[in-house]
Amino acid sequence: MEDIFEGQLNLMNTVDEDNILWNGNVWNKGVYGNLICKNLTIKVITNAQNKPVYYIGIYSNPDAAYMPFNGERFDDEDAFLISKQEIEIISGRIEEQYGDQKRFAIMSLQFLGGLRKLFEANQRMHGKFLTIANNGLKEDAELSILAIPRTDIIILAIDDSHNVEGNLTPTEETGIKDIVKRLEYVLKRIQITLGLEQLEIKFNIGVAIFEKHGSTTNEVLKNSLVALEVLTKFKKENMLIYNEAYYDYIREDLIIREGLRTAFEKNELKLVYQPQFSLKDDQLYGFEALVRWHNDQLGNVTPDRFIPILEETEDIYRLGMYVIDRALEEFKSLQNNISGLRLSINLSSKEFANNAVLEYLFRQKTHFDDLGVKLCIEITETTLVENMEHIKDRIQWLQNKGFEVAIDDFGTGYSSLGYLKEMYADELKIDRMFIRDFPERDDGKLIRAVISMGKEMKLSLVVEGIETVEQYEWIRNSGCDLYQGYYGAKPLSLSDIEALINQSMH
Ligand code: C2E
Ligand code: MG
Ligand code: MG
Repeated sequence: MEDIFEGQLNLMNTVDEDNILWNGNVWNKGVYGNLICKNLTIKVITNAQNKPVYYIGIYSNPDAAYMPFNGERFDDEDAFLISKQEIEIISGRIEEQYGDQKRFAIMSLQFLGGLRKLFEANQRMHGKFLTIANNGLKEDAELSILAIPRTDIIILAIDDSHNVEGNLTPTEETGIKDIVKRLEYVLKRIQITLGLEQLEIKFNIGVAIFEKHGSTTNEVLKNSLVALEVLTKFKKENMLIYNEAYYDYIREDLIIREGLRTAFEKNELKLVYQPQFSLKDDQLYGFEALVRWHNDQLGNVTPDRFIPILEETEDIYRLGMYVIDRALEEFKSLQNNISGLRLSINLSSKEFANNAVLEYLFRQKTHFDDLGVKLCIEITETTLVENMEHIKDRIQWLQNKGFEVAIDDFGTGYSSLGYLKEMYADELKIDRMFIRDFPERDDGKLIRAVISMGKEMKLSLVVEGIETVEQYEWIRNSGCDLYQGYYGAKPLSLSDIEALINQSMH
């Protein structure tokens, strides 16, 4: 075992009140040559005269010493997914391997799902993966694979100098894609079961190429981790090659994170209301409340950008409550008669899964009842397929309490018709993407199919994103019930909806 101390073991130090003499990370070299980090605490046991009699070393998971990714550390040129020391040690190892020939790419691979937990619990698994990945990839190229503590990350450095005729060319995009495919193939041969469950091997890979994405190994490694970090947010593919713009993206992300902490207190969140119209008689049917965030430093930030970040913390639970409170206050202040109109409120999947949020909405609903305003809760189709527990019961609970429930962004969430049918929602909102290109680049076949699917479920159908008169004319004869979109009206401020309601009364 080879120990590399990251801190100074200074026995002259005085101990603190827990009798801890030293705490820091210790690196062990595992049997497979990978680096494994542990957190070591040295405690002193003293006798009655306060003289040290024993020193006890306690190893624990390095999580304790792991600091989450935050602004200071990033500005400090420090790492986020892994620590600065880890970056230094790993780039040192890679340099040792390649010397001064620099035709290599660094791939940072992070395991996902259940496998990730398994890795965190069992560092041996890491070794197994390293050996298999090594055997699967090594025939064509020089390869260096290093595991990192909190053990869901593996760093691969792959060289292509011996590979003029081979197909592993990690310094080109196509070559990288081939390697990722090969890695997937190799790793999928490992069968891992947890209890009765067979774990699926899923991972994300962030890639950076030497010279193109950094002039030192350290920088290339860091940028592969930046790509990995960005990938985790996009969640679309499992591999991303570094691009300079990502650095800005992550920096902006940090500012958003920072700004969101005080957004509620500073009253920076506002609501706009997008009207929904009935297709039968073109009358105003109701509104969808949409949140807006204006921040001094960032300007206007779209909900698609900040809601996923809010969802990372408990703050997301404040959103739905804030929206209903604010809407209530604003609706009460309206001078018009709004009885008979409907207000739709969006809930993200985490909010929808939270009892306190649903109960709060119910409590506030009585005030909307007094105004004669119906409430509709919009949940996305993705929320449904996320396999949440008791989802059907939740929908029913809301309906029993007098809410309507709409499935938002219908057609984008890959749920089966049978499954949707079982949910007994009241309304389907057909996503904007189905009408967006009509009629120029789309003959309407797809939306027709989606509408007929919706009809089969005997639900009220809303078409979102109607922007042009052609789209409106077409949708008018489609058998749908409501429409929403810039053609009817953009999301409006309170005073604008006041005017609109007045207008529609005449
Ligand atoms: P959504 O619920 O599907 O809302 C419709 C989005 O499409 C809104 O974007 C709206 O401004 C936009 N839109 C409406 N008509 C048109 C059109 O004709 N053309 C185009 N190009 N766009 C149109 P927005 O306001 O940026 O909201 C995006 C998403 O953020 C919403 O999608 C919803 O999922 C989420 N969201 C918004 N407000 C809230 C909220 O208060 N709570 C939660 N949990 N999510 C919210
Ligand atoms: Mg919506
Ligand atoms: Mg939608």
